[in-house]
Amino acid sequence: MSDTESIDEADGARPYSPSGMYFADGTPHKGQVFENEAGKAFGETYEGCMRCNGSGRWSKNRRKACIACEGEGEKFIQARLYTPAELDAADRRRKKAAETRVTKQAEREANIIAKHQAFVEANPDLWARALVSEDKFVQRLVIASQTWGGLTDAQLKALPEALDRLANERAFYANSVPVGTPGERMDIVVTCRAKSSFLSKKFKGRGMQEVHLTSMADDEGRAFVSITSAFTLDVGDKVLLRGTVKGHDERPGWPRTVLNRVAVLEVISTLASRQEAEAAEQVREEEWDHASAPSM
Ligand SMILES: [Zn+2]
Repeated sequence: MSDTESIDEADGARPYSPSGMYFADGTPHKGQVFENEAGKAFGETYEGCMRCNGSGRWSKNRRKACIACEGEGEKFIQARLYTPAELDAADRRRKKAAETRVTKQAEREANIIAKHQAFVEANPDLWARALVSEDKFVQRLVIASQTWGGLTDAQLKALPEALDRLANERAFYANSVPVGTPGERMDIVVTCRAKSSFLSKKFKGRGMQEVHLTSMADDEGRAFVSITSAFTLDVGDKVLLRGTVKGHDERPGWPRTVLNRVAVLEVISTLASRQEAEAAEQVREEEWDHASAPSM
């Protein structure tokens, strides 16, 4: 093969074929060329046996021959033949398809960046708040916008709510300080402000268990948290707790006392009971207003 023929690396490197024809993978064909009714060229060749992966042995009993190839490890087949021009054309089609894929991918990525930038430009304040947030949910939305190109309507609605919720909690816990010393057992009155649950690998044994993260505050606005499968409260529950101080952290952005071995000694009130009491109070006030109003 001369140098002038191998200008293009892929196209110029065909090995010599006695018949001038090649199989689909570019290997040269030896022997006779057949044609089917449609005028397509075929040649005879051996193909590695798929059944035994070329070993010639039966997978369930290696001492017996593979029934597909009768122990030969390969099978005699008739396969399509191609001229060098046909193979070159196929190569060009493959290359073109690959280039198109790359172009399409680049277009998709550019589109995502443009959509994300449009979102940031349309919501500059929201984006600035989201970027500095330590909240996991907010951080996920920040990544989602960059990955998918902006936010969905539902995410766009959820983001400011999450930021406001976080700002509210930060303001609520502005005076929070660590309580107690690690190992100390204490009784405290707290109200549950938030709860979430997640699945976690069991500490002992196999399988998963539901773990509850319960955020609580005492009447002085000091933050408590317990992370355990054995205890949680409903939001609004006010209870007398006994718990052991495990340590202190500032994970959400304010000082917290982490409790474990938590038990409820007394339920003081629930959100539902307080709402009922408030509603009853309002009815009494209205009745009083009605009774004290001058009669017509
Ligand atoms: Zn076989």
